[in-house]
Amino acid sequence: MPEKQIVLKNCQMINPRDINTYLARHDFKALAKAQVMEPDEIINEVKASGLRGRGGAGFPCGSKWEAARNTPGDEKYLVGNADEGEVGTFKDRYIIENDPFTFIEGITIAAYAIGAKQSYIYLRSEYHRLRNLLENAISQAKDKGFLKHVKIDIREGAGAYICGEETALMDSIEGKRGEPRYRPPFPTTKGLWGNPTVINNVETLMNIPNIILNGAQQFRQIGTERSKGTKVFSVSGDVAKPGVYELVLGSKLRELVIDLAGAETVKMVQIGGAMGRIVSSTMLDTSLSFETILGAGGVIVYNESRDTIDIVLRTMEFLNKESCGKCSPCREGTEAMVKILQKFAGGRGTPKDTGLLEELSSTMMLASLCGLGQAAPFPVIDSLQYFRHDYESRIK
Ligand code: SF4
Repeated sequence: MPEKQIVLKNCQMINPRDINTYLARHDFKALAKAQVMEPDEIINEVKASGLRGRGGAGFPCGSKWEAARNTPGDEKYLVGNADEGEVGTFKDRYIIENDPFTFIEGITIAAYAIGAKQSYIYLRSEYHRLRNLLENAISQAKDKGFLKHVKIDIREGAGAYICGEETALMDSIEGKRGEPRYRPPFPTTKGLWGNPTVINNVETLMNIPNIILNGAQQFRQIGTERSKGTKVFSVSGDVAKPGVYELVLGSKLRELVIDLAGAETVKMVQIGGAMGRIVSSTMLDTSLSFETILGAGGVIVYNESRDTIDIVLRTMEFLNKESCGKCSPCREGTEAMVKILQKFAGGRGTPKDTGLLEELSSTMMLASLCGLGQAAPFPVIDSLQYFRHDYESRIK
């Protein structure tokens, strides 16, 4: 079976409001082991594991930590990114509401490794209910003496999708309007208040205690050549069993959406949220990995009754609404795409409009400042590639 529980192993097994139930299973053993290691040893272990960021970009985690550790600075920061705003993605919410303690243990180890005394959990504003749960978990960990070298504070987002992007997220923590920054410099050298900062997704940090406790070599044993370990997916849409599933990286899309989630007919699958890729039913044997297709783990299944133009239009309306407006290719490009897609939705498309969509896509991908504008055209490009007939049937 492709399912394997590393990140989710404590879910439904502990009481997320009682640290004693966590201690009975793990006893913060990974933190204890990490604290007798040199920070460089920890970083080397994480590098050797091959762990890559689980928030979508897939950057090697250990290299990020190393860059922040090696940058001189009196203050360094570690941020746990729980601003899970991607469409159809709810795995971090599930993780936190079931096992906040592994997340906290991962933060403490990461902070120790990079030399951060202050860390933040940046929590999606709609996850307000989780704040109390996290505060309770932090307080219990502190009372047990596990947070001696790092302070963990929670910062709530204000509902902007773009604040999941790490430089906009930093602006938001600093109390500014969240807008992406130009890079370089990267956060690991010039992050929060100009200091070296590591921002890791919740799921990335959930893997750390396991790597420290069981070693990089064990972690590397599963997955593909460039995608080690497991990935947690949230599956929704036209499936019998929507929910959260953890699979070995490299598993087939078919195993996730048909064997596990119980989809009966599949027209298309959107992988990685609004800015993710769309694949057709002929591509169900695609493997889920960083080499192929992955994103943050949101998987939406659409059956044969769904209208391609409607799906792409609603996705683009969302991206247009959430574009922060800082750069014109994204601000104007998403607006123009919405208008063209509305024409197709109303049966008023023209042959020239498909060409316009393709031209806009190229410009946005090349000239947008951040990932939102660069990836916003993906639903258009992919649907034109696999479902062009749906556009052509709407040409006046
Ligand atoms: Fe803002 Fe879009 Fe430009 Fe990103 S690409 S900076 S979201 S306008």
